[in-house]
Formats: sequence, structure tokens, C-alpha cells
Amino acid sequence: MATVSLDGVRKVYANGRVAVAGASFAIAEGELLVLVGPSGCGKSTLLRMIAGLEDVSAGELCIAGKRVNELAPRDRDIAMVFQNYALYPHMSVAENLAFGLKLRATPKDEMQRRIATAAAMLGLQSMLKLRPAELSGGQRQRVALGRALVRQPKVFLLDEPLSNLDARLRAAMRVEIARLHRELGATMVYVTHDQVEAMTLGHRIVVMNDGAIQQIDTPLALYARP
Ligand code: ADP
Ligand code: ADP
Repeated sequence: MATVSLDGVRKVYANGRVAVAGASFAIAEGELLVLVGPSGCGKSTLLRMIAGLEDVSAGELCIAGKRVNELAPRDRDIAMVFQNYALYPHMSVAENLAFGLKLRATPKDEMQRRIATAAAMLGLQSMLKLRPAELSGGQRQRVALGRALVRQPKVFLLDEPLSNLDARLRAAMRVEIARLHRELGATMVYVTHDQVEAMTLGHRIVVMNDGAIQQIDTPLALYARP
């Protein structure tokens, strides 16, 4: 079953720039789909349309069978992880993890249970009282992942989540994201400009260039026929 489906989805910005020129594909439940391509090719715009952070200019974008235009961002059952972490600097790690749940009026005991589980999965237990400024880049990115995890969304959207980390940490976090994906069984859409990241993480890879989708295939098939 398709969790997310796109049919002729386009994005034309107010200045006339065509960022996405007719994307059509479907994302299966539980799939880890990677969008890869050079900077400026439209990956982030496509992800932001799925998240409801950008309007769709034309075409049809559905999540769990419902058109996104008819869903309030809060009702989309989607959580997004950003490249720059987007943590609240004045809040502790625990408060950062709790924030999205408080917005949705999650009961306190349920909230604590989810925070404890996410902290354990990501090795953040000893950092819950700290502020983001007291953490390393890798730890901050873990908190950003944790904030998505506690929401228990149907779909995770990750926009270049590792590109601010050094190469060693990036490789380690890649393994961690693959593990999280296996453990959660969730649907993930992962944006990167890094081909190695795309090939090692993706079940399927969508190759974009200049707003257009050039290929969609498994890493193995893309490797055999580059
Ligand atoms: P990527 O994520 O692949 O780097 P983006 O989706 O960020 O690409 O951008 C795709 C194209 O749309 C680029 O040419 C970019 O300059 C342009 N763009 C992005 N955001 C806006 C905006 N708010 N207004 C106008 N053009 C934009
Ligand atoms: P506050 O003092 O405002 O409760 P905290 O930073 O201690 O701020 O915690 C923020 C939220 O995270 C709280 O709602 C709390 O329930 C939850 N929380 C804090 N520590 C833990 C923990 N060890 N395990 C699970 N949840 C926690």
C-alpha cells in the first residue's frame, strides 16, 4: 500500500522558478526511500511539500489516500528532521523532546514513556537536563531524531540530517538511522546530495536533476546501470 503518492506534482515558486517539474511516484509503507541529486535540484522542495510546509502548485500529493491540501499540517502524521537540527536553544533536551507532544496535548505519563523510550534508543538518557549548546553536533542531531521519534509518526522525513557532521560521525549515524528504520518499521523519506549515503541507506533511490526525476530504482539496479 502506498503511504505517500505523487502524481504530476509541480512546484513553481512565486518568482517563477520551477523547483519540481512533475514528480510521479509512490512510497510504500515501511520503505526507506532516498531522494538524491545535486544542490538546488528540488529535493528539499519536494520533501517540504510532503510535509505540508510548501503548497503544491499542480498535480496530486496524497498521504494515506488523502490529498495533502485537505490535511492540516498537524493532522498529517508526519515528523521531519532538519539539517540544522532546529532545536529550541532555551529548552532542555527533555523539553525539546516533549514540545511536539505538548502541542498535541499528549497525556503526561504517555509523554514520559515516549521520551524515555526515544532517549534509550538514541543514548540520550544522561543528557535530558542539558541545553542544546552543551551538546556536540552528533548529540544535537540525535535530539532532533528523538523529537521525531517521540511523535511516532507514520512517515519520517529527513532533510540532509547528517550533512553538518564530520565524515566519521556521519558514517556512524547512517548505521544508526538504518537501525532505527528497522526497529520502527516506519516509512522514511531521506534527502541527501551524498551518493554514498543514498546507496547505503536507500531501499529505493529517486535521482533528481534540475527539478525532474531522472531515475527511480534500487541501489543495486542503479549501480549496475549508472
Ligand atoms: P535542493 O534541496 O535539491 O538543494 P531546493 O528544493 O532547495 O533544492 O531548491 C530547488 C530550486 O528552487 C533552487 O533553484 C532554489 O534556488 C529554488 N528555491 C528554493 N526555495 C525557493 C523559494 N522560497 N523561492 C524561490 N525559489 C526557491
Ligand atoms: P520540566 O522541569 O519542565 O518538567 P524537564 O526538562 O525536566 O522539564 O522535562 C521536560 C519533559 O520531559 C517533562 O514533561 C518530563 O515529563 C519529561 N522528562 C524529563 N525527564 C524524563 C525522563 N528521564 N524520562 C522520561 N521523561 C522525562
